[in-house]
Amino acid sequence: MVDVEAPEYHPRAVMDAAERREQLKQVYLEASACTRCALAETRTTVVFGAGNADADLMFVGEAPGANEDKQGLPFVGQAGRLLDKLLAEIGLERGDVFIANVLKCRPPGNRDPRPQEIEACRDYLHAQVDLIEPRVICTLGNFSTKLLRGDPTGISRLHGQAEVHVLGHRAVRLYPIYHPAAALYTPSMLETLRADFARLPELLASGPPPQPERLEEPVPEIEPEDAFPTDDAHRAGAVGVADADPLAPASAEEAPLSADQLGLFD
Ligand code: URA
Repeated sequence: MVDVEAPEYHPRAVMDAAERREQLKQVYLEASACTRCALAETRTTVVFGAGNADADLMFVGEAPGANEDKQGLPFVGQAGRLLDKLLAEIGLERGDVFIANVLKCRPPGNRDPRPQEIEACRDYLHAQVDLIEPRVICTLGNFSTKLLRGDPTGISRLHGQAEVHVLGHRAVRLYPIYHPAAALYTPSMLETLRADFARLPELLASGPPPQPERLEEPVPEIEPEDAFPTDDAHRAGAVGVADADPLAPASAEEAPLSADQLGLFD
């Protein structure tokens, strides 16, 4: 067990989109300066995740690769383009969902994440789930499926079958599917992935699962402007956490976020 403090955020059952986005930004600010594990020494950029802070659908992959590490956004390579295509086939785009990884930093040489790294990063994913409150979480491939289910059963036995799981404080419909990188080169896997995607609209329409009882935690004060350098505070705009209109400024005082910063529509 790594001795780290949980990220400071204010989980609440009822939040509007602007509140979610604002609180997610605070978690992003903390993550972007994270030194909880040794990956902080080798990463270029923390890949927090991107998309809609108010999304019903969230995707969780393994860890950033080389392209993601450079750009600071998840799934920007070939696998990401396939993910975009599959989303489009069910009438969705990145601005409708939230995409994250188990690890927020790239393991050198894309090696497998280590237990200590997973443990150190776990609070960030739980904070994302707590704040976004997705109905459905698609685990992409074996790694995130095994980890989030807490069970070694492989993706080929589980894909396309939703089950309710508690992550952090939230119950979600966990829906394991093949990793798009694996489907890129295996046509039969791609067809299976496409078929599993086709069931997503119905799953989303089934609503959120019943939530467990939860004890409210004391709400800590956080002052990001003091805690982070101005540059980092400015980069909060690049978090890729978008409202329903991802090009709209988060508030009247904020400069509009550019599409390439958001990484949603390039
Ligand atoms: N594969 C992942 O699991 N995550 C990414 O962000 C990119 C590729």
